[in-house]
Amino acid sequence: MDYNFHTHTKRCRHATGNDEDYIKCAIEAGIKHLGFSDHAPFIFPDGFENRYRIPMSEGESYISDLKILREKYRNQIEIKIGFEMEYYPKYFNEMLDIARKLEAEYLILGQHFILSEYPNGIGAGGPTDNSEYLKIYVDEVIEAMKTGVFSYVAHPDVMCFTGNDLVYESEITRLCLASRKLDIPLEINLAGVRYNKFYPAEKFWKIAGIVGAPVTIGYDAHRAKDLLNTEQLISAESLMNRYNLNYIGIPKLKPIW
Ligand SMILES: [Zn+2]
Ligand SMILES: [Zn+2]
Repeated sequence: MDYNFHTHTKRCRHATGNDEDYIKCAIEAGIKHLGFSDHAPFIFPDGFENRYRIPMSEGESYISDLKILREKYRNQIEIKIGFEMEYYPKYFNEMLDIARKLEAEYLILGQHFILSEYPNGIGAGGPTDNSEYLKIYVDEVIEAMKTGVFSYVAHPDVMCFTGNDLVYESEITRLCLASRKLDIPLEINLAGVRYNKFYPAEKFWKIAGIVGAPVTIGYDAHRAKDLLNTEQLISAESLMNRYNLNYIGIPKLKPIW
């Protein structure tokens, strides 16, 4: 695998290491196309800023620091600079404006919350058996795909639904059909593999395979050395074989305007 567009930096406060180490590890891992996609900065109208994001005050330096490194390594690796961002119907225009002003080059969707996160949002990682929440998650992801600015959906199986299997099947089929129709890939998330999380969720990928939704892979690196772990790729490959997934390889990045 010679690409990865899901890379964080220490600015989000739950990733560690220097930016340059991520680039060095990527080169060592044979990655030719590296994308940084740290959690997009955003401040809610009442001033609340969630602590898992790049602080707004560091948005500009995130981009400019990485641009300097991009120049330094330009002969060894191609680097893109973007964000992992949620789609919150209430705040989408504002969030997109921030990303555009900072001149982010691409966005991946990471729908970590439903119902716009704050003040009444719900973390997608649940777990929950509430069918209504699952439907809202799928609606929001599909709406996000329709905006045309997200290059792919990171961990599309992040919603930890423990309720009725038939409801899960019909909702996730809806999500996968939209991905296929709109040609927006779904990411097998390697952080889930590394940390043995509930995702990649077998029941999700089984449906993705049946529908034939386009599939890509992201390391979701929060440490530079995450890029060197080859075992996780073997797991992803066996998942793809198990469910006959429509693996497209490197995703095409979409412009954000
Ligand atoms: Zn993160
Ligand atoms: Zn994420």
